[in-house]
Amino acid sequence: MGTDDCLFCRIVAGEIPATVVRETDKTLAFRDIAPKAPVHVLVIPKEHFVDVVTMAEADPEVTAEVMATAAIVAEHEGVAADGFRLIFNTGPDSGQEVAHAHAHVLGGAPLGPMLA
Ligand code: 5GP
Ligand code: ZN
Repeated sequence: MGTDDCLFCRIVAGEIPATVVRETDKTLAFRDIAPKAPVHVLVIPKEHFVDVVTMAEADPEVTAEVMATAAIVAEHEGVAADGFRLIFNTGPDSGQEVAHAHAHVLGGAPLGPMLA
């Protein structure tokens, strides 16, 4: 899957609207369309990688920038002090639906057990 048929590449390209909360040279952070917590932001590399493992192997620098952006988003969203969860679903057993690497930043309330 490449840029043309990837949902998140299309968001990066501005072809699909998103509520962007932060943008850096190499990353974009926007609100999840179906939030699972009071704060639910997705942080993605602008470049297409199918998942976090592929991204980490191909580009440690952008991987670090995704993590740093997630930390800043958590701070700006007001969840850093009380805590939050950072999730990278990876592959079929994780339920990953969008094959473009993304971190979920989840918080704003007690999140309950790690897995439902
Ligand atoms: P995954 O299951 O791949 O880890 O997470 C994909 C996430 O993308 C889901 O939480 C889903 O709600 C979100 N999502 C799917 N389509 C859209 C969209 O068009 N816009 C936004 N902002 N989020 C989306
Ligand atoms: Zn993509």
